[in-house]
This record gives sequence, C-alpha cells and structure tokens, in this order.
Amino acid sequence: MKILIVYAHPERKSFNGAMFQEACRVLEAEGHQVQTSDLYGMAFKPVSDASNFTGLQNPDYFKQQLEELHATANHLFSFELKPEIKKIEWCELMIWQFPLWWFSVPAILKGWVDRTFAMGQAYGSGRIYETGFFKDKKALLSLTTGGPQDAYLKDGLQGDINGILRPLQRGILQFTGFKVLTPHVVYGPARMSGEEREYELKRWGDRLRIVADEPEFNVGKY
Ligand SMILES: Cc1cc2nc3c(=O)[nH]c(=O)nc-3n(C[C@H](O)[C@H](O)[C@H](O)COP(=O)(O)OP(=O)(O)OC[C@H]3O[C@@H](n4cnc5c(N)ncnc54)[C@H](O)[C@@H]3O)c2cc1C
Repeated sequence: MKILIVYAHPERKSFNGAMFQEACRVLEAEGHQVQTSDLYGMAFKPVSDASNFTGLQNPDYFKQQLEELHATANHLFSFELKPEIKKIEWCELMIWQFPLWWFSVPAILKGWVDRTFAMGQAYGSGRIYETGFFKDKKALLSLTTGGPQDAYLKDGLQGDINGILRPLQRGILQFTGFKVLTPHVVYGPARMSGEEREYELKRWGDRLRIVADEPEFNVGKY
C-alpha cells in the first residue's frame, strides 16, 4: 500500500515522535511504500494566502477558492505546495500523527489542509463525500491527549472523543472522499509509566501491521 504519514509535533523526542517513528518502521517492514510530511521539520508555513500560488487570476481581490481553480487549470501552485499535493494524490492511506490541541489539530496541520486541499484538486463541481476526489483513499487519525480516557467518554468532562474529532473526520476527510478508519487515541501518555508507554507503542505497531485490512469506521452524527 502507498502510505503518507503527516506528522505534526514540534519535538522529535516526544511520544508523538516515537509513534511517528514506530509507524514508519512497522509499515516499511510490512512492505508498504511510505512517504512522510514532517511539518515542523519542514518548517511548513501554515498561513494560507496569495503565496500559495505562483500567479493570480485576480491580483486586486484575493479569493482563495477561485485562485485554486485557476491554479489547478494552469499549474500555478507554489513550489512548497506542489510536492505535498502530489503526496496526497499518490497515497492510498493517509495517517495524521498529532497531539490534540484545543480539541483539534495543531495549527501547522490545519494550515497544511487549508493550503493543500484545494478546490479543483480535493473537492468541487459537486464532488464531495462519496464522489469526492479522494474516494478511493483511506485516512486514519492517530493522536494523543493530555486528558485521561474517562474524560473523553460521552458523559465525561470533555465529552465523546468522536464528537471532538467530527470536524476533522467528517468536515475534512469524508468531505473530500476519504474512507475514515477508527481513530487511534493514546490518552495521556505523559501520565503513564514507562511500561505503559511501551505497551502503547506496541499496540500502535500491532494495529499498523494489519491496517490494510481494516474496515471503514462509522463517524456517526453528533
Ligand atoms: C496548545 C496546546 C493545546 C492542548 N489542548 C489539549 C486539549 O484540547 N485536550 C487535551 O486533552 N490535551 C491538550 N493538550 C495537551 C496535549 O494533547 C498533550 O500534551 C500531548 O497530547 C501529549 O503528547 P506528547 O507527544 O506531547 O507527549 P510527551 O509529553 O512528549 O511524551 C510523554 C512522555 O513519553 C515519553 N516518551 C517519548 N518517547 C518515548 C518512547 N519511545 N518510549 C516511551 N516513552 C517515550 C516522553 O519522554 C514523555 O515523558 C494541549 C497542549 C497544548 C500545548
């Protein structure tokens, strides 16, 4: 399988960093083709603006989606975005590895989506959800939290984790056609013992060994 791992954590020695490295190691050992986007490592610029493009249709009034259509037709995406868009098109499975920040992804990853999931390339002309451009691809969120697991149950302090992830899983991934796999959550790695963290890394690796056979996850309605 062709797999893209998008990694968004500012510290390579973090638990997220360990999960990222474990994923690369296991998936390559299983014979998959792996490409990565280490967003902090690349110093990826998350701000979406006219610099997304090497030329503009309307330099007097910037309207991103119209410029995206124009750039798609005229090959005008910036040198920074082109390889990222190519990687998304290439992959059959996309994995995001990130810490939950403010009930969402770190801004660098949200900015990567804002800039690369362009109209004309990822959605548009009525091609959304089941007919989305990425309908033959799968996506998997792999994340860590600060809070414990019981805080992320329906009646917990923070509420159901699947409701928190809905803007990502429904609003971005399914919207553009991806089939979403069950999210992989490690709750509160900073609160764990060394042994518990080792167990979590093994649990992640074991899951990835058979990820190609996983069925789609029902993201539900909240
Ligand atoms: C801006 C911001 C917003 C946040 N919002 C939320 C929120 O909305 N909800 C929420 O729950 N939390 C939130 N948090 C907390 C955040 O989600 C957690 O701090 C993060 O998920 C923990 O993951 P980490 O990789 O940073 O852990 P780390 O603290 O880097 O790692 C935990 C431990 O694992 C150890 N470790 C690293 N590698 C290995 C290895 N190979 N084997 C064993 N141990 C290892 C590390 O040394 C460390 O001791 C927020 C944090 C920030 C900064």
